[in-house]
Amino acid sequence: MTEVNTPAVAAQGISKSFGDRQVLSDVDLVLPEGTITAVLGPSGCGKTTLLRILAGFENPDTGTVRIAGETVAGGPTTVPVHRRRVGLMPQEGALFPHLSVGQNVAFGMDRAFGMDRAFGMARASRRDIHDRVAHWLSVVGLDGLADARPHEISGGQQQRVALARALAAQPRVLLLDEPFAALDAGLRVRVREEIAAILRAAGTTALLVTHDQSEALSLPDSVALLIDGSIAQHGTPADLYARPTSLANARFVGATIELAGSASSGVVRTALGALPVRLPVPDGSAVVVLRPEQLRFGTATSGEPARVTACRFYGADTVVHVELTDGSAVSLRSPGECALAVGSAVTVEVAGDVLAYPSPTSRQRVALGEPGR
Ligand code: ATP
Repeated sequence: MTEVNTPAVAAQGISKSFGDRQVLSDVDLVLPEGTITAVLGPSGCGKTTLLRILAGFENPDTGTVRIAGETVAGGPTTVPVHRRRVGLMPQEGALFPHLSVGQNVAFGMDRAFGMDRAFGMARASRRDIHDRVAHWLSVVGLDGLADARPHEISGGQQQRVALARALAAQPRVLLLDEPFAALDAGLRVRVREEIAAILRAAGTTALLVTHDQSEALSLPDSVALLIDGSIAQHGTPADLYARPTSLANARFVGATIELAGSASSGVVRTALGALPVRLPVPDGSAVVVLRPEQLRFGTATSGEPARVTACRFYGADTVVHVELTDGSAVSLRSPGECALAVGSAVTVEVAGDVLAYPSPTSRQRVALGEPGR
């Protein structure tokens, strides 16, 4: 039996190179039992490689992987894929088109660790299989669809069949590799909410790979931000949004409004006044990062002067572009229609404390994707 505090997955010091390209560097990742963790990162940062190492399709060059306390990779140990009881749900459900929905789900039970273990009996009868398939289809809200063919159901339903197939194998951890990427925008939000609810109800430990920020912020218990093969930050979604530990992390998780400033004793002077900082920053030249919701119009007696340069109406709100006294440009969202003429004088203020980071050097600017100056 698993000890109470044994994590479902503990990967430690994972490094991996393909040829002379290092894809993962010293990655540590712990997935507590029954939680959903997202690995968020830009394309090519090594997310799928990490998943494949956990599942057993790749071996790490260094480091260990433990699943429910059992070492499955590391040193001389390599437990093969089919013995790890790790479920993998790929991007496009990958259902077998020639099998019915029910047969696809039954395949999950058979494939992962054999019918005998799935049912805890010498040999599963057709009735047992039928009941188990019906159970998992019911868990994913697809009762009565066992006889349908994959092409007869919607994309969202296909994803739920793929989930039922993965869950039917009773994995110790389920890995989901961009499972919603192939769905169109409207469907994606609905299906991901449904799947997260199913995983939570089933108490499944899951690792979700995504490069979609809203997915990474809204679904999981925690987010590991993977940049250039290293875990740049791992915390709750709120932590990553409110307290990113670097400018790169701040830019990757959520929209930013950036202002030049000068930091001194926990306050940064900017064109929007002297702003208190949320996380320590060394004195000197700094970049202030605001979240869009922190910027608002001031009153006649509050805020810093600015001039409207453009208004763009988007229905639910209007984006008002303004120029501050130092020539820098920022934009504010105002609910509904906002009829401010170009050239109008307004004031702008900042709500709450702000994030600030030392101004990047020319080299760091290049690494951040900016032109080096
Ligand atoms: P994406 O979001 O675009 O799917 P990712 O973060 O999942 O990207 P990986 O698929 O892990 O990134 O790939 C990371 C890097 O490793 C890429 O440069 C990729 O080309 C390389 N790579 C992955 N697998 C192999 C392999 N088997 N052989 C050689 N290079 C590989």
